[in-house]
Amino acid sequence: MEHPENSSEYEGLMVNSGVDHQEIVNPYLSKIRKRRTKIYTPEEYLDGILRGDVAMLSQAVTLVESTLREHQKIAQKVIELCLPYSGNSVRIGISGVPGAGKSTSIDMFGLKVLEQYGGKLAVLAIDPSSEKTKGSILGDKTRMEQLAVHPKSFIRPSPTAGSLGGVARKTRETIILCEAAGYDKIFVETVGVGQSETACHSMVDFFLLIQLAGTGDELQGIKRGIMEIADGIVINKADGNNVEKAELAASHFRNALHLFPKPASGIIPEVLCYSGFYNLNVDKVVKMIFDYIDKVKESGYFQYRRNEQSKYWMYESINEQLRNDFYYNPTIKEMLPEMEKMVLGGQMTSFMAANGLINKYFDELRKSQE
Ligand code: GDP
Repeated sequence: MEHPENSSEYEGLMVNSGVDHQEIVNPYLSKIRKRRTKIYTPEEYLDGILRGDVAMLSQAVTLVESTLREHQKIAQKVIELCLPYSGNSVRIGISGVPGAGKSTSIDMFGLKVLEQYGGKLAVLAIDPSSEKTKGSILGDKTRMEQLAVHPKSFIRPSPTAGSLGGVARKTRETIILCEAAGYDKIFVETVGVGQSETACHSMVDFFLLIQLAGTGDELQGIKRGIMEIADGIVINKADGNNVEKAELAASHFRNALHLFPKPASGIIPEVLCYSGFYNLNVDKVVKMIFDYIDKVKESGYFQYRRNEQSKYWMYESINEQLRNDFYYNPTIKEMLPEMEKMVLGGQMTSFMAANGLINKYFDELRKSQE
């Protein structure tokens, strides 16, 4: 019997045959989906981007973020086409630990910048950790309520590409597309932990560090070497009975900064207290950033830093591509676990194993070219 529970001893229980499963809820859905993901030619994307068409820009960014080879091909072409129209912006990095008030502040900074300096603002993010949660945290539209609905702003969450190198590259490429679309102010948000700050620093003209008073951040910042990469330090939540503490922290930072050699820009970072939530001194922070930009443009450091960054990213791309090519090589993939075992078992030194793998990789490469 197919359903033993239908036998007479279980009188209260009857199992009825079910209805057939509907194949698809809405037969037109697949057509709608297809229409939405129509891929244009690189020239069409360029055209849309130069017109400032936000939908085209968003789609092009999606291609940049995609891991599919055919998407990457188009994306690279679009970036190449956009390149001559890029570069004409002020790029500002904003970093702070979770809870420092980055999104609240960016919302306020952004509004102030648009109000006082005009133009258009793009908010991007570098958050390699977002791979774990499969949804980016930084740059989420709902976190920046006012900017999210501002007609002159474009907010894009962090790409979820896995490795920091990959995420950072995609953000950098997105900057190029945004600049071509006329966004002349770019914010790059990043979490104040580890190497994502360094990656962010290497693609912006000004790096702002958001700190909190009374959390031991002062010492942490000094220890982590973050002071060396900050162009300005701001202490958030200087409101209510927190003002005094914030001022004290600011003076600690100012003292500490004097212990470091003068930065290459020749400008000692300013330290300011403000409150993003209550909109106190936000205009001062914005002024500090744009005054710095004026100064470095005049001294030539602005262009020098951008050139250095281009060089840095060239080498980073080489490293990234070589690394990927090596690790995606099927022979290497197969050999790696075995070699790892041998190293752990003491049958081989780490150096020997690495050498063996690298030689194998180049041998194969040579053979494939013969
Ligand atoms: P993020 O994680 O760095 O983006 O921080 P959020 O912007 O989400 O802010 C974290 C918390 O701090 C939120 O509850 C905010 O309301 C609060 N907050 C942000 N800025 C301020 C501020 O200037 N003053 C005060 N008192 N609270 C703030």
